[in-house]
Amino acid sequence: MSRRADFPPAVRKIIAERAGYQCSVLNCGRLTIGPAPDGSATVRTGMAAHIFAAAPNGPRGTGGLSPAERSEPENGIWCCYTHGKAIDSESGSLYSATQLKAWKRLHEARKGAEVTGVASDSYGLVELIRIDSAPASLAGRTFNLGMRNIITGPNASGKSVLTRLIASVSHPDHVAKMSRRQDVDIAVKWFDPNNHDVATSGRAGEVSHVLDGRSVPYVARPYKTILLSLDTGDSLEHIASLAQMLDLNIASTKALLRLLPEASDVIREIQIVGDRVEWVLNLQGRLIRETRPSHLPALLSAQLLVELASAHARHHARVEPTFLLIDGLFGRFHDMNVVRSTLERLESAAEHAQVAVVTASRQVADCATDWTIAELEGGRGSEFRCPVDFEVQTTLDIPGR
Ligand SMILES: [Zn+2]
Repeated sequence: MSRRADFPPAVRKIIAERAGYQCSVLNCGRLTIGPAPDGSATVRTGMAAHIFAAAPNGPRGTGGLSPAERSEPENGIWCCYTHGKAIDSESGSLYSATQLKAWKRLHEARKGAEVTGVASDSYGLVELIRIDSAPASLAGRTFNLGMRNIITGPNASGKSVLTRLIASVSHPDHVAKMSRRQDVDIAVKWFDPNNHDVATSGRAGEVSHVLDGRSVPYVARPYKTILLSLDTGDSLEHIASLAQMLDLNIASTKALLRLLPEASDVIREIQIVGDRVEWVLNLQGRLIRETRPSHLPALLSAQLLVELASAHARHHARVEPTFLLIDGLFGRFHDMNVVRSTLERLESAAEHAQVAVVTASRQVADCATDWTIAELEGGRGSEFRCPVDFEVQTTLDIPGR
């Protein structure tokens, strides 16, 4: 693709130096500077790729940034030659801007930690889960995870198993339960931004972990997983239900709720009366006080839950890698404009948390222009057009359902 506004040399240098002259693409890290054979010169093979395009019609568009902003160091990711070319091939469709920003930040966080000896950025990412043995048809598969993911495909076996395996680093009971029927062996890699690798095995209800090469009774500092299944009717009504859904204590759930009106267009005010939550909503200019949120339309309650879960994920991702998995929600949306706006809201509101939206609707995937799409067929993965490959289905037991 044409690159009409390359980074100025000084900016390119900053981008390269911030990356330690190493490729920022996940798991590449190739050195792009070194000695030339003649003994007095250097060889340079790296390039600064634009995250949002130099030209308005370039790969990944402009992201709403001005030309000046698009030539700032923040908009550049340092890459080896191979990845630099790949990032701009196929009109930029192979890598989303979100993905590139995540890799850049992660790589810079690691380099920063190497230089200073301390991790100054708590940024992290769950990179992959490898499944060696498990129920369903998941055995032998490796799922690479991106920052913003849509997992789409028909309802099939394996989704809920995989979700629980992803969550099992912090909730090993899932593995214990599965292993009563069948042996479970998985490995998960993530960063915080130090590398971690945990192998989890389940045998006849007993679970063992090997974390970073050492046997441990449990993973003391796992990444956070928030599993949200939205076929719940009254979960907006009671603090306890919300707390359980978010895997959060009561006091923190209340605090989180009180924060919502600041950031939301729809939520004007939240009042907590005993164990009950009252929502004051701004619906197209009309103020509604809802004391029985279970009576809200399913679509609206789904939007409120997105707000709440995003706020929780956003807050948590500031201290450790956080993965928000949302299943079932988008089945409520039949209007693709609502899908689009909800994805946009999720995209920005979750900030640095990883997100996966699980949906049977292929239309939802079509609405997600800047998301990584994983398409599954009939319980087995098909060809993926993005480096993400997993399906998720989860349910949550909410009291009072
Ligand atoms: Zn590379």
